[in-house]
Amino acid sequence: MYCKQCGESINPNQAICVKCGVKVGEGNNFCSNCGKTIDPTASVCLNCGFAVKKNMNSDKMILAIVALLVGTFGIHNFMMGESKKGIVKILLCWTGISSIISLIDAIKLFTDKYEVDADKYF
Ligand SMILES: [Zn+2]
Ligand SMILES: [Zn+2]
Repeated sequence: MYCKQCGESINPNQAICVKCGVKVGEGNNFCSNCGKTIDPTASVCLNCGFAVKKNMNSDKMILAIVALLVGTFGIHNFMMGESKKGIVKILLCWTGISSIISLIDAIKLFTDKYEVDADKYF
C-alpha cells in the first residue's frame, strides 16, 4: 500500500503517512495500490488498473455553494449525475420546496454527509 499524497510505501495499519503527515487514503497524486503517479482526475490507475476513489472533499464544497445559490433548479443534482432529483427540483421550484431541499443538500454536502458518486460527477 502506498500513500496517495506522496507515493511513500506505507503499512496498511498506519493511520497517517510518516513522510508527509497526510491521513492514509487522502490525496489524489499516487495510486494506493502500486504507488505510481496518477492523474488526479482519473478514476482508474493506468499502471495497475486499480480503481481510484476520487477525493470529493473539495468538490463537495463547490457543490454545496452551487446548492445554496441555484439549488432551487437542481443544478447541483445535475452536476452529481442525479438528473431525476434535478428534474423534480425544477418541477417544484415554484413551490419553495426545492429551496428547502437544496438547503438540506447544501448542509449535508458541507458536513460531508452527502454521498456523491465520483464516477457520475462530471
Ligand atoms: Zn505521504
Ligand atoms: Zn496503480
